Amino acid sequence: MKALVKVSPSVGFVMKDVPVPTIRDDEVLIKVSRAGVCGTDVHIHEWDDWAKGRCKPPFTVGHEFAGTVVEVGKLVTDVHEGDRVTAEGHIVCGRCHLCRTGNGHVCPNTRIIGVDRDGCFAEYIAMPAGNVWHLDDDIPFEIGGIHDPMGNAFHTALTADIPGNTVLITGAGPIGIFAVGICVAAGASCVIASDVNPKRLALAKNMGAHFVVNPSEVEATVRAATQGLGVDVVLEMSGVPAAVHQAFKEVRVGGRVQMLGIPSKPMEINLATEIIFKGVTVYGVVGRRMYDTWIQMSQFLRSGKFDPTPVITHRFPLEQHAEAIAAIKSGEAGKVVFEIG
Ligand code: NAD
Ligand code: ZN
Repeated sequence: MKALVKVSPSVGFVMKDVPVPTIRDDEVLIKVSRAGVCGTDVHIHEWDDWAKGRCKPPFTVGHEFAGTVVEVGKLVTDVHEGDRVTAEGHIVCGRCHLCRTGNGHVCPNTRIIGVDRDGCFAEYIAMPAGNVWHLDDDIPFEIGGIHDPMGNAFHTALTADIPGNTVLITGAGPIGIFAVGICVAAGASCVIASDVNPKRLALAKNMGAHFVVNPSEVEATVRAATQGLGVDVVLEMSGVPAAVHQAFKEVRVGGRVQMLGIPSKPMEINLATEIIFKGVTVYGVVGRRMYDTWIQMSQFLRSGKFDPTPVITHRFPLEQHAEAIAAIKSGEAGKVVFEIG
């Protein structure tokens, strides 16, 4: 089969012919139809410090996908040949303290497809049956293929109290744009999205944000929209230090800051003034809760109140991987998707 492979500890990916994966008795083989491209893939492509410390080439990249089950292991009972599926890409141990208390999303033994084992930028992928998530018949594969980042947005938004509340989303990358649509569907009374990039703000507006603003306009917009109180909830989705400080500044006293964005290096925070004396609750987001986030995501899609389709701006065949990576690096794209099979 063809696969996009990180062949060596250096910059780049290589399209290669590799064997179709063999499955264990508790796994299924999935023929990949669509696969989302993510910032993590860019880190692996560029072979930055994070990738150097984490990944061991050679391996097939990619962790967001959807497709059709073509083979099931003999211990698998509830996934069948022909099923249309996506999957949770974090493979957890199921046996540690965190897994056994319903917190598998922070399992210390997590292995991620396309990072720690072969991923989905290929014609086929082997997945543990326990990670498989069935798609409704009317959910297209390209939406199935972006459940992973959409799930990050659902996790970040819905572990806060959204109905009736005012929300500031700092960073309108693909995940921030999804979060706009989710907060609107969940009944936020006001959603303000900030970004430095006008193209991304336009996408956020299209998903229903009440106000889309440059970071320099956030303070005045929040003040006007909240009678000077500050927003009830901030979803920090940029990882940029200036936006992190802005999150703590613009949240109201007693409010909540949901932290998804990952700063590229350690940063200073004044705990006393930014968090403690404001009585702020901070929540660190890792991946998707297993599997309450997935249930919420499927139910929101089923309701028809949340449609992520406008977030997808670029589609490429696997052969055009260089163009796909360039589209993400340009900052001009929403979600970028590979059309594989
Ligand atoms: P992204 O990194 O492209 O989005 C970040 C956005 O922030 C960009 O549109 C950028 O223009 C904008 N930005 C830059 N400076 C800003 C500022 N001062 N104020 C507001 N916005 C600003 O893409 P993404 O895929 O949506 O990822 C968002 C963040 O989430 C990244 O930091 C990513 O690493 C992180 N992430 C975390 C998890 C997790 O499990 N915690 C999972 C996936 C991604
Ligand atoms: Zn575990």
